[in-house]
Amino acid sequence: MYLKSGVPDQCTGCFACMDVCPVGAVSKVMRDDSFLYPVIDSSQCVHCGRCESVCTSGKAGGLLHSPIDCFAGIINNPDSFFASSSGGAFEAAVRAIREISPARDLYVVGTIWDEDCKVLHSAVRYSGPESLRPLNKSKYVQSDTSGIYRKVEEWLQMESTAVIFSGCPCQAAALRNYLGRDFDNLWIIDIICKGAPSQAFFDQYKAELEASEEARLIRYSFRNKRILENGTLYTRSAYYALDNGAERTVTRFTDPFLRIFYQKAYHMRPSCLCCQYKTIKRISDITIGDAWGIEKMYEEINPIRGVSLVLINTEKAVRLRKHMEKTMRIYDCDPAFAVENNAALRETECQ
Ligand SMILES: Cc1cc2nc3c(=O)[nH]c(=O)nc-3n(C[C@H](O)[C@H](O)[C@H](O)COP(=O)(O)OP(=O)(O)OC[C@H]3O[C@@H](n4cnc5c(N)ncnc54)[C@H](O)[C@@H]3O)c2cc1C
Ligand code: SF4
Ligand code: SF4
Ligand code: SF4
Repeated sequence: MYLKSGVPDQCTGCFACMDVCPVGAVSKVMRDDSFLYPVIDSSQCVHCGRCESVCTSGKAGGLLHSPIDCFAGIINNPDSFFASSSGGAFEAAVRAIREISPARDLYVVGTIWDEDCKVLHSAVRYSGPESLRPLNKSKYVQSDTSGIYRKVEEWLQMESTAVIFSGCPCQAAALRNYLGRDFDNLWIIDIICKGAPSQAFFDQYKAELEASEEARLIRYSFRNKRILENGTLYTRSAYYALDNGAERTVTRFTDPFLRIFYQKAYHMRPSCLCCQYKTIKRISDITIGDAWGIEKMYEEINPIRGVSLVLINTEKAVRLRKHMEKTMRIYDCDPAFAVENNAALRETECQ
């Protein structure tokens, strides 16, 4: 475990250890690889051991379970589809949970961009699909989760309140361990995850982009959906806006950040290279990702247009499918197909 060994690939950067510390002795430090790691201030530490027991490093096994159901889908509403990265499964799942949850208030936790283009975990109080817009779209940067596990625990204890937590599998595992028990009013959605670049790496790219544009970056969006001249939909470009009013669309063929993420993917956290969550066994109630290869089963679908893959992993989540069918066009598939076509669902040898 990282807190004892200091070996970088043993730390996912989930920062549950920081939230759990009763005396605020855990802070963050950036190592040479540009990722943030926990560091304990020994003058404050009261040796309670909570940071070590909350850490899921190397011990996710007991938390993982095989999917019960698997399907692909595309959300019907065009606004929702264009606001999403893949086929809009995230919104469809939230709407399905809203339909079946008796809670008065529903908090949806996920990632947002802040005004400085930093990616962090935050929450919205659900009031319809539009309220999800800050959380929509993949941000290909490791998010800052500081304080979020503590906040989720507080909401779960409030009367008539339910919480949907979405994030990478390592963050979902961190939440499960932090809470230490199941809650009927908690739903966990994890994404299929091949690994995340660091915020510092994105900041460096942003600085270079701002220098060449001579303007400040005010908005950035990966997985921008645009219609090409031949009429097909393409989802692998990024969009950004500058404070001088300019707006640009870049592709992985021209943009250095996208080229690295999509083609070489060498800038990842060390823990991502041999991640214990790259498996069909899941930590969450529902897993969402891209339905790569779906055209082999349904030749009328072009996967590049944005098609979601959904894994239903717990008995609690089984009934969500029939509610998701109200907002999505669903295509049956199976876990073996998902594993074959999505490398991030296959167990990895440490690279
Ligand atoms: C770093 C990263 C790597 C990924 N790798 C793969 C992959 O290898 N294979 C694959 O099939 N899919 C991968 N995905 C998932 C995919 O890109 C879509 O996010 C997913 O299919 C959801 O799309 P959607 O249309 O359902 O909804 P959207 O509304 O676009 O989804 C948004 C959801 O993604 C979450 N999210 C966005 N950025 C982050 C982040 N940085 N950290 C944690 N959660 C985030 C939001 O909280 C929200 O729950 C990856 C996503 C990320 C962020
Ligand atoms: S709890 Fe998370 S951030 Fe802390 S050491 Fe473990 S993996 Fe790293
Ligand atoms: S042992 Fe307890 S007090 Fe010390 S850093 Fe860990 S959680 Fe904080
Ligand atoms: S690849 Fe694994 S360790 Fe890396 S961000 Fe994804 S779930 Fe976390």
